[in-house]
Amino acid sequence: MRLSRLHCVIAFLLFLAFIINAAVSLAQTNQQPARRQSNNTGQPAPDIQFTVSMPQPHTHLLEVEMRVRWSTSAPASVDLVMPVWTPGSYLVREYARHVQDFAAKDEGGKTLQWRKANKNTWRVTTGDAIGGARSVIATYRVYANELTVRTNELNDRHAFWNNAALLMHIAGHLAAPATLRVNSFKAEWKIATGLPTVPGESNTFRAENFDEFYDSPFLVSDFKELRFDVRGVAHRVVIDSAGNYDAEAIRRDTQRIVEAAVTMMGDMPYRDYTFQLMLHPTTRGGLEHLNSTALIWRRFGFRPEADYRDFLTLVAHEYFHLWNVKRIRPDALGPFDYTGENYTRLLWVAEGGTSYYENILVRRANLMTVRQYLDLIAKSFQDLQNAPGRREMSLEESSFDAWIKYYRPDENTINSSISYYDKGAIVSLLLDLRIRQLTNGARALDDVMRRLYSEYAKKNRNYTPEDFQREAEQVAGASLDDFFRRYVRGTEELDYDAALSSVGLRLDTTGGDKTLPKAYLGATFALAGEQVIGRDVPVGALTIKTVPAGTSAYEQGLNVGDQIVAVDGVRATSDFLTARLAEKRPGDTVALTVFRFDELRTFDIKLGTQAEGTYRIVPVSAPSAEQRKMFQDWLGAPLPQTATERAATL
Ligand SMILES: [Zn+2]
Repeated sequence: MRLSRLHCVIAFLLFLAFIINAAVSLAQTNQQPARRQSNNTGQPAPDIQFTVSMPQPHTHLLEVEMRVRWSTSAPASVDLVMPVWTPGSYLVREYARHVQDFAAKDEGGKTLQWRKANKNTWRVTTGDAIGGARSVIATYRVYANELTVRTNELNDRHAFWNNAALLMHIAGHLAAPATLRVNSFKAEWKIATGLPTVPGESNTFRAENFDEFYDSPFLVSDFKELRFDVRGVAHRVVIDSAGNYDAEAIRRDTQRIVEAAVTMMGDMPYRDYTFQLMLHPTTRGGLEHLNSTALIWRRFGFRPEADYRDFLTLVAHEYFHLWNVKRIRPDALGPFDYTGENYTRLLWVAEGGTSYYENILVRRANLMTVRQYLDLIAKSFQDLQNAPGRREMSLEESSFDAWIKYYRPDENTINSSISYYDKGAIVSLLLDLRIRQLTNGARALDDVMRRLYSEYAKKNRNYTPEDFQREAEQVAGASLDDFFRRYVRGTEELDYDAALSSVGLRLDTTGGDKTLPKAYLGATFALAGEQVIGRDVPVGALTIKTVPAGTSAYEQGLNVGDQIVAVDGVRATSDFLTARLAEKRPGDTVALTVFRFDELRTFDIKLGTQAEGTYRIVPVSAPSAEQRKMFQDWLGAPLPQTATERAATL
């Protein structure tokens, strides 16, 4: 068949559209850091090659060589900049403070002059052009002796680093591609990172720009590697060092979590995914990346089962972030400014929403029972109700001030602020149930997340607080302004029962405790070894850890750091104080003798009232068919039987 000229033009245009479309979807299935302008210097991007070496691991010094070469029109001086923070952890950490032994030379080996321009910028005067090109070879060492997911550690067991805490970039050239070669300490050490390798070169990785570079931590050790595929896409879990884990269980359960999340989001926007799991005596943590995550868990923290479940929720949290925050990006979170704070009012969605889904996904993957899930959320409700700061700070304020509040807690935190993680997860739950209620179970928060993914992430747009509310309202088919005004922008008390009733549940705040009300002091106490206002708590000392506002302890003058030495004139221990308080009634007085700093003081405290026991979420007495269906849709399992139903089946 022959085509007319018009047909040829149309066919050509269709072909062109197909090619462009294919190129766009190819780009989308690969990495998707926020796209930034090619550069803002008006100069061509230089060729940048890093080499990271670790010749003496016991010194904790990572050695960096940064080779920069301009083919034409290089600047007379160049600013090398070290980030001050790493995305996902909203605190200025001043990574430049770990840099030492900085030096610069040109390709011919001639020393180049440099000086510090500010705390994290090294200004190098470039040398004479050699063969029409200018080059700078900067070398420096970075002290790496802190194992967290946002810092670096090198020792004779392993190396772990965040590129944002190790590699400098050229000011104005964050869009430049670069490579990184690793000179491993031991030949048998392997390398795990989300970056692709450079074909034909050993231990060399490439990033298309510095956003990708700074998003890709490196783990170098003799780690154990577990692999699985989901929808034909390769996933691996690398585990660094020994612990009481069951490798096969981790492989199987991580796969189930990935499958549950992919089923919900309907897409896998990465070429491969790496879970870097490092084991540590005490700490835990996780940091999300585009196609990898760094996890730290207690070496012996995989048993009992509740601890293992807790680990799985961390896996689910960091994995779900690949959509929520890494691609579904709040207004200010990408492209990033690596030299200062990046403010957003949306961390309650990015972190709180992810915290909501960490449990939901583990539940949907059938790795947590309905009862376990309900107990977790009941505890989160109680923790929030015990924090007087909930009356002081809204979710948007908590998000915005993360840089100076959440990451810098002190003894007044409980009274002045709330966590965008914890309250954010609760409000996400309330929003989910509200949408289900308004749509008779037809829509849910899942639909909002999918809309944000298709309408913002896939179109390379960031979303604002107004966008989030509008998308939620479109899914709900109704105004949610009241909800956002009270619970997101405001500090009104949350109505748990209104939300829970849609799925046939209610909140029991007595926990079935018939002995309520009880006498209530209000202070909480630190364990030995904990730090209270910068001081270690000695073994056996009864030291006050928090004094929540509004309690008897707060109103009648007890302070954080007070060490209680006597109760009603008798030597105090933790058990003794608990027993004495249990004997008293609300309104009774207790004499507490304390050391405040080095002074002995006695306070007669009139005890308050504790009317609440351990929160429990229970089924309503006669759930309707609609409530049962909504519950089933929400948690993927039937509503637990009520006490009456259980009695009837006996
Ligand atoms: Zn998170």
